[in-house]
Amino acid sequence: MEWIDRFLQKREDQLLLRTLHNIEKRKGGNIVVDGKELIDLSCNDYLGLAAHPCLLQESKRMAEGYGTSSSASRLMSGDLHIHHLLEEVVADFKGKEASLVFGSGFLANIGIISAICQKGDVVFSDRLNHASIIDGILLSGAQFFRFRHNEVGHLEDLLKKERAKFKKALIVIETIYSMDGDRPPLKEIVNLKERYNCILMVDEAHATGIFGRNGAGIVEEEDLTHEVDIIMGTFGKALGSYGAYVAASKKTIDYLVNRARSFIYSTALPPSVIGANLAAIEIVKKEPFRRKILLEHVEYFRSLLKDKGFNTRGSSQIIPVVMGDNKKTIMVAHMLREHSIFALPIRPPTVPKGEERIRFSVTYHHSKEILYQVAEVLKDASNGI
Ligand code: PMP
Repeated sequence: MEWIDRFLQKREDQLLLRTLHNIEKRKGGNIVVDGKELIDLSCNDYLGLAAHPCLLQESKRMAEGYGTSSSASRLMSGDLHIHHLLEEVVADFKGKEASLVFGSGFLANIGIISAICQKGDVVFSDRLNHASIIDGILLSGAQFFRFRHNEVGHLEDLLKKERAKFKKALIVIETIYSMDGDRPPLKEIVNLKERYNCILMVDEAHATGIFGRNGAGIVEEEDLTHEVDIIMGTFGKALGSYGAYVAASKKTIDYLVNRARSFIYSTALPPSVIGANLAAIEIVKKEPFRRKILLEHVEYFRSLLKDKGFNTRGSSQIIPVVMGDNKKTIMVAHMLREHSIFALPIRPPTVPKGEERIRFSVTYHHSKEILYQVAEVLKDASNGI
């Protein structure tokens, strides 16, 4: 097993070793680690729903009614009527004919992409797409081209050169990018997908619950529900729970039931999680003030950081502050932690070398006073290096 020692030592030498945190408590946007309370600017509970009484109550009610497990995969005897209820609610929320629920976002992406594409097909993927999208493409056996982040011109060059050589073509993008917090030029990509006869899949993991009139995401906000063929999203971020879904035409969903291996061969989501997911969608529709307040605070924090001369990116609740150097990023994160702020350094291979950053995820729990304090500490920390 020496190869493991060598691997870990190398990661440590490069300051790239990943370690776990062992959080003791979580409450109202704060966490307790090693007995110390920290402001948590690293979590995805953007709307603060993970402790919402309605989610807790529905979660408990479903566990009491159906037990703690679904006890089998959907195609065996794990297929409860509450899974179907959730799928109807998701389809309606997303404005699509049908939907299908998966165990997690990672499972959804690998399952959907490897079911839609095979050898002889081609996938055009934004360079900043999530690891689960990349793994789905690799698993599919399709030819794979990455276009420069959000560069429609580069995507079109690739389509012009390569599209005709393959059978099916899939374009995959995210609607809020997880490390940059920015959004794609969706209308232009829709236009290309139509001109080059492609299927368009979007990952709305970080947009659902926050953007759009009903909180359904960027696709809803830009009124492109009919143009986007496959809308994937997760319950584990703004929806405060766990699991994922895909919304699409009824035929596409029937196809995935027959072909998506991470759906077919995996235990169905447990009843407690279904309860929380149903309640979360209800709350997103009923309590729009959550996303409104969140986005107001986000704007406030972003402008504070810009005024202080930081290199920030994006236009969402994910605010990366690019430090551009691994050592500096780690030192700043360390100093933030000393001032009770938990914001993690994001380093290669998650982001390209030279783009090392502190990634702030602002949530509904973070008031303007807290964000002001964070910006001040960040300024002092980066000046002190
Ligand atoms: N897609 C994106 C864009 C993500 O950021 C993530 C999670 N970080 C996933 C998919 C995976 O979702 P899950 O955590 O539910 O597996």
